[in-house]
Amino acid sequence: MATVSAPGGTATADAQPLTDGFHLVVDALKLNDVQVIYGVVGIPVTDLARVAQASGIRYIGFRHESDAGHAAAAAGFLTKRPGIALTVSAPGFLNGLVALADATTNCFPMVQISGSSERHIVDLKQGDYEELDQLAAAKPFAKAAYRVDRVEDIGRGVARAIRTAVSGRPGGVYLDIPAAVLGEVVDAATGAASLWRVVDPAPRQLPAPEAVDQAIELLAAAERPLAVLGKGAAYARADQRVREFIETTGLPFLPMSMAKGLLPDDHPQSAAAARSLALRRADVVMLVGARLNWLLAHGEPPHWNPDAKFIQVDIEPTELDSNQPIAAPLVGDIGSVMEALVERAKPGRIQVAAGWRQELGERSAHNAAKMADHLDADPHPMQFYGALRAIRDVLHEHPRAYVVNEGANALDFARNVIDMQQPRHRLDSGTWGVMGVGMGYAIAAAVESGDPVVAVEGDSAFGFDGMELETICRYQLPVVVVILNNGGVYRGDGTNAASADPSPTTLMPHAHHDRLIEAFGGKGYHATTPAELTTALTEALASGGPALIDCVIDPTAGTESGHLTNLNPQGVTAPAPDTPAKKK
Ligand code: ADP
Repeated sequence: MATVSAPGGTATADAQPLTDGFHLVVDALKLNDVQVIYGVVGIPVTDLARVAQASGIRYIGFRHESDAGHAAAAAGFLTKRPGIALTVSAPGFLNGLVALADATTNCFPMVQISGSSERHIVDLKQGDYEELDQLAAAKPFAKAAYRVDRVEDIGRGVARAIRTAVSGRPGGVYLDIPAAVLGEVVDAATGAASLWRVVDPAPRQLPAPEAVDQAIELLAAAERPLAVLGKGAAYARADQRVREFIETTGLPFLPMSMAKGLLPDDHPQSAAAARSLALRRADVVMLVGARLNWLLAHGEPPHWNPDAKFIQVDIEPTELDSNQPIAAPLVGDIGSVMEALVERAKPGRIQVAAGWRQELGERSAHNAAKMADHLDADPHPMQFYGALRAIRDVLHEHPRAYVVNEGANALDFARNVIDMQQPRHRLDSGTWGVMGVGMGYAIAAAVESGDPVVAVEGDSAFGFDGMELETICRYQLPVVVVILNNGGVYRGDGTNAASADPSPTTLMPHAHHDRLIEAFGGKGYHATTPAELTTALTEALASGGPALIDCVIDPTAGTESGHLTNLNPQGVTAPAPDTPAKKK
């Protein structure tokens, strides 16, 4: 317990030790094993960061609250404990809200702690400094939002936020602490007595035995079963149990992008290279920590077999039946469900027909050969495939490295080319397909693990949070940012038939992003061929320090909206999309 002397004076020998809201917040976080706070300081939380640092909590200061929030969310995903983001009042709080909403959408546990202005002035709209009813603003975007109105409730507020963020379906929690509460002084013993440590913040949730048997029956009767592993399965840290179930049953599996590496991508049961066929043909599908949302075409034909029966393993009962009838609901935490499945499925009860394995195997081999042709071609200017093959091969030498990935084409291509061998080593745009998460995720991965991080970024995506290069350099983090630079949103060859301004999708051609990191003392590289990229990435990873590789890609490479062209509405009177400039 930290103490302060009586405000406005020095402590006398018999003065009662005092504490205040700042210290109590930090003490409550420490008591609950928080080791890192990601944030941006300012009124009224600057001293909170100072007190946290003095207490041994690591404070990572960002340039924008959204990035700090994304870092906290990624920390939550990687550690299964809530990441903490610290923001200032009104505008800073609102900047952080995107990340809080995104964390909730991704089911990542985090707590955004924000200072706020004087309650009584805010509530009467008298026009306070940075006046905003933050609690009301946060509610629609968070799993839950709480406010601490009295210093003696700080311990309760922190405990409640932590419990809510990680228990059940994880998500983002907002904790509002007005400036007056942070500055409130209380005697140290009373303050200490008001704090508590959350016991078992994410209790196991066991599935009912009959639900487990029902799922086993369905799988046993299947002709073409399939397991889909989602980021919930990666988050659950039940790696061994998931693997044991998949391997003892022989089920073919498809990893969603952030579940890549839960079982290695070169696992013989992976059906990733035959994804479309697997979805179209599977007759019993077991979803493990994966929602049947847009990323899985809502389980609908023609992408899916119209007669497919679904088993869904999820901690959130209301998720079930959200898109398709769930024939076998398995509600519980993934570790407990997998354990029960292994225990209750008699050896040999679930068999995978040789014909189905062969069908998937043949399609996988066919698609892998097509992919190898793309990867082996070495055209100039460099294409996405050439660059990604170089990155993939260097990463094979660095199995501990984390991969962060965002962009449109940069995401779609990289997801397929860069294989993962370790669980929870890939962080990407996630459920919203959002841009601007990359630097926050990369910083969190480096801070939480100490291992190298390679952030594979589209040039447009990088623009959202590029100033965090300064943060990466300031903390000397082992982050290498690779920008797949084709000079545009989607692609860089658009001409504007409508006006003299650059087209909506055009970014600065020939931009040297490598010079940005040099401004902060990091190492910049410029690569125009896969060979140069290989050399640069190898050297950057060996150095262990911050680096950025500007990787020049053909501006005509990539398609508008990447793989999501179908989501662009086509207006009858809308102008034609940017006309690609003729290649000289
Ligand atoms: P993906 O995008 O990889 O398909 P989603 O984010 O759609 O994955 O799905 C993750 C699911 O995992 C969510 O429905 C969430 O409720 C669930 N989930 C998260 N943690 C656990 C857990 N420990 N046990 C069971 N389900 C979980």
